[in-house]
Amino acid sequence: MRCLARWMLNALAIVSLLLCIATAILWAVSYRQFIDVGQISTRLDATTYTQHLIRLGSNNGRFLFTRRDLIWPRPVIADNIPNWEKENGWYFTRMPPFDMYYVFPRQPGDHSWHKYIGGIRFRRGLELGGNSSRSMIGFVLFVPHAYVCVALAILPALRARRVLRRWRANRRGLCQKCFYDLKGNVSGVCPECGTAIAGASATYSISA
Ligand SMILES: [Zn+2]
Repeated sequence: MRCLARWMLNALAIVSLLLCIATAILWAVSYRQFIDVGQISTRLDATTYTQHLIRLGSNNGRFLFTRRDLIWPRPVIADNIPNWEKENGWYFTRMPPFDMYYVFPRQPGDHSWHKYIGGIRFRRGLELGGNSSRSMIGFVLFVPHAYVCVALAILPALRARRVLRRWRANRRGLCQKCFYDLKGNVSGVCPECGTAIAGASATYSISA
């Protein structure tokens, strides 16, 4: 059981390390390209047309995660969105990076607000349209690539430190668990913590 848990932790550490490297590459690329992956789904009911968007983007050193609904009163659709049912599905685009901190002039009915928390920015989008104009509700979360990189590096770093310490302890003849000096030990068990010594044979401990 312990062995399985350790195996899973190591597997997770490797996945985390690979994601960390991928994030670092995206980070470097993000100053030259805005990479945008998302999914659009549309819904038409008796009174409204709704376009629902989920997206993950990478731009200028930040990830942005967006969820929003654009809602039109149904009579407007015929004029503005003739191909509404064709807008469903996944998309992937690459564009020049844009200024995420540009604040658009406030329109009537715009009740959006945003908050900065230690480099993370949360923007609540809330635009209330009228009988003939569009409404919008949703949010965008901006998270620096650096934060994601650091978070993904924690587990690999801890596992690497553990492996390194064990390897060093092994080389110096120390107990792998408590680092007690085992030179000259013949019992095959660490007298400090009771851990079986790797490589000690059972016959040796009996004959001692
Ligand atoms: Zn020990």
